[in-house]
Amino acid sequence: MIADIRCGRLDPEEIRQNFSELHPPLTELQAIQESARCLFCHDAPCTEACPTDIDIPGFIRKIASGNLTGAAKTILGENIMGNTCGNVCPVEELCEQVCVKNTAEEKPVVIGQLQRYATDHVLENWIQLFKRAPVSGKKIAVVGGGPAGLSCAHRLAMLGHNVTIYESRDEPGGLNEYGLAAYKMLDNRAAREVAYILDIGGINLETGKTLGEDFDLAQLRRQYDAVFIGLGHNSVKTLGIENENVDGVYNAVDFIELIRQEELSTLPVGRNVVVIGGGNTAIDIAVQIKKLGAETVTMVYRRGFDEMGATEFEQQVAQTNGVLIRTHAQPHRILSENDQLTAVEFEYTEKSANGQLAGTGETFVLPADQLFKAIGQALDAAPLDSDEKPEASGGRIKVDEFQHTSLPDVWAGGDCTAGKDLTVTAVQDGKIAALSINEYLNHG
Ligand SMILES: Cc1cc2nc3c(=O)[nH]c(=O)nc-3n(C[C@H](O)[C@H](O)[C@H](O)COP(=O)(O)OP(=O)(O)OC[C@H]3O[C@@H](n4cnc5c(N)ncnc54)[C@H](O)[C@@H]3O)c2cc1C
Ligand code: SF4
Repeated sequence: MIADIRCGRLDPEEIRQNFSELHPPLTELQAIQESARCLFCHDAPCTEACPTDIDIPGFIRKIASGNLTGAAKTILGENIMGNTCGNVCPVEELCEQVCVKNTAEEKPVVIGQLQRYATDHVLENWIQLFKRAPVSGKKIAVVGGGPAGLSCAHRLAMLGHNVTIYESRDEPGGLNEYGLAAYKMLDNRAAREVAYILDIGGINLETGKTLGEDFDLAQLRRQYDAVFIGLGHNSVKTLGIENENVDGVYNAVDFIELIRQEELSTLPVGRNVVVIGGGNTAIDIAVQIKKLGAETVTMVYRRGFDEMGATEFEQQVAQTNGVLIRTHAQPHRILSENDQLTAVEFEYTEKSANGQLAGTGETFVLPADQLFKAIGQALDAAPLDSDEKPEASGGRIKVDEFQHTSLPDVWAGGDCTAGKDLTVTAVQDGKIAALSINEYLNHG
């Protein structure tokens, strides 16, 4: 046997425990104690730092007074995916980073967990907080049922417009459903949130319908008063080295999708696993494959820790789960036997005087049964081909501050446009675009 890849390296119960939630929900007592720690700052730096402008002291005050429905309304009124965001936002770089409690002695208020606590209340009890304005008679097409598309659709529906979401997959949710780490999005949280969003009414969801295959942009522009594009990243970057297609080499995002969709004990797991990349996708696959029972997991990044896309917190999550992170090395060769991966050769890197990264010529080899490529995703603009295409910039769809593209009736947002590539920023893009579309429909 060349490769040691097996399903069920751990028994199902051990796997289940390994995939328990990163941040378990707060108890009522914890939520009350935590909300009492908030100083309700007048200038609220946390609200400034939240990409969706949630009035954070406002919702925490409502939790403190036992008004969970009111707290959830404050959150979801700005960020309809506030439940997911409470779980997955890199709060250590957003709202919690600027909390004034952040001192040597004290930790910040756990804003994300409080946000989840309040929104769980309305989702679990199915309290619909939003209703539609009188029907406007306007029709908008939304392409992509991820966070950007869903947020845009929800806000447009609230404003009384009729929306059709075209989603190429069988299920909506985008990376919330297929990408976020399983230990951040347990059970059916993503689907529950989508159901809550659609429950407002006025949103027709068409799954299995792909822009660029089943219809093109020109058709949508003829049929609808406005179009929003939220395609996300629809392609992955390649290493560009020999043997990239041998057995045992995977795109991390494809395997992460299996982790979210399949029975965990049926997934193939190598004894020795190598992950290439330094972003959150690299961390997510490294941690999850370790939780599935891989013996060694080594994540290799070409630059230093300080230049990693993954936050310091995510790096710690990897390390505390037994992932070894090696820096300053780039893949040089993929070694194989009979078309099966056996090892990866890396070359050390250093920065030259002009700041450019270059190989030093020194190499090392890591034995590998599985190799996961997590070096980034990108936008493949082919689905946008039409008689008129929105302008692009830096490989993404170019938009202005209102998420408006170069075409008068087309808006875009989320990962297919420039930005931070987070769930919370995609939600904000969708919301801003919806408000701008509403303005356009009402005033031209
Ligand atoms: C592995 C991984 C882990 C992540 N972890 C986090 C995290 O912990 N926290 C965080 O904040 N962010 C995280 N992100 C980033 C976050 O998931 C994205 O920024 C966010 O999902 C972007 O939303 P979107 O709507 O722009 O795109 P997507 O979520 O990608 O949704 C786009 C949707 O469009 C559909 N689509 C694509 N092409 C077509 C077409 N031609 N026609 C019709 N539909 C189409 C897709 O099927 C998809 O449903 C992670 C990303 C990845 C890959
Ligand atoms: S949406 Fe994210 S950044 Fe904004 S307050 Fe909630 S957890 Fe913090």
